Amino acid sequence: MIPYGRHDISIDDINSLVEVLKSDFITQGPIVAQFERKMQIYCGASYSVAVNSATSALHIACKALNVTNNDIVWTSPISFVASSNAALYCGATVDFVDIDFETNNISLNSLEEKLVYAERNGLLPKVLIAVHMGGYSCDMEHLFYLSKKYGFRIIEDASHAVGGKYKHKPIGSCQFSDITVFSFHPVKIITTGEGGMALTNDKKLHEKMLLFQSHGVTRDKEVMSKKTEGDWYYEQVELGHNYRMTEMQAALGVSQMDRLDHFVNLRNKLSKIYDERFRHLPVSVPKRMEDILSSYHLYIIKLNSNSAKQRRVIFDYMRSNDIGVHVHYIPIHLQPYYQKIGFRSGQFPNAEKYYESALSLPLHHNLSENLIDKVVNSLEHALQLEYDT
Ligand SMILES: *Cc1c(COP(=O)(O)O)cnc(C)c1O
Repeated sequence: MIPYGRHDISIDDINSLVEVLKSDFITQGPIVAQFERKMQIYCGASYSVAVNSATSALHIACKALNVTNNDIVWTSPISFVASSNAALYCGATVDFVDIDFETNNISLNSLEEKLVYAERNGLLPKVLIAVHMGGYSCDMEHLFYLSKKYGFRIIEDASHAVGGKYKHKPIGSCQFSDITVFSFHPVKIITTGEGGMALTNDKKLHEKMLLFQSHGVTRDKEVMSKKTEGDWYYEQVELGHNYRMTEMQAALGVSQMDRLDHFVNLRNKLSKIYDERFRHLPVSVPKRMEDILSSYHLYIIKLNSNSAKQRRVIFDYMRSNDIGVHVHYIPIHLQPYYQKIGFRSGQFPNAEKYYESALSLPLHHNLSENLIDKVVNSLEHALQLEYDT
């Protein structure tokens, strides 16, 4: 099976991991700090906190922005469930903004309409979690303008987008957001096995996220409420978690970062080949814009027929051909858990239409042009199959 995504581990990656195992620290040591610094510099952000997953990063990001049970958080229905679960962990109410069918990101028109209505009814969100679907950045400058106009904060769920750019600045610079979150799960651009990171330019948010990722415990005299009783002394000042990253994970991250630009360039190159090959087929390919560099975490096509039945037939055919196609994502509001808390099908029509027609094709660092041919041929055949309309 040609998988839709796959990690790439080099000899250097392996060696750096072995080095850590021979060292004095296997968690909470210097390599985590090195990984944080390296990513910070790469992105041009002031602060960063490495954690054990992007889900944890989203959770501490929400907590740092004081999201609690009287608050509303908005995000995209076309994302992994973690994007909205993070807000639910904080007890907040979640709502979704329908997507734009061209970018697969939240629609700024839908957002503006929803904000006008919410302002009238006292239902404005405290935080918007903007998802860069497939690695293609949201229009952050516009989002930032709206966040100032309506008084909400922005977390970028850039789980797909490390190594990408928006208006020539790295995703993660937080120029137009409060916090940006990355994932280092093995299917993403670079990996630490499991892992994530939160970046910010705000010192206070950084301090809070540090506390929340490690039990709410501090050894910083400035933050303590009482006088130190000796060198052993620490204080728990918040209710935090154990979301720490290990030294092994960080070593992998530091080593993988050396190939980050290479990975993103390769994904762009491969996706261009796909684009060309699909020009004559009844499918739409990912949107491209001059001032956005997608990291191409996913290469998603949409079937012009817009038929869930056809998508099912094509999916099954390609899978039986050992092509690991996939579907990203089932709209979050259609998940049984979200239906249980009150969401209904039909609420976000573009997201549902998207779901019926979307298909993720294999895209990763070990995909040769030969394998691309195989994927393209298989899709061409699949598109000719009969299906009931
Ligand atoms: C993968 C992913 C997450 C969760 O990342 P983990 O590191 O596995 O916790 C969150 N949001 C999006 C959009 C993702 O794709």
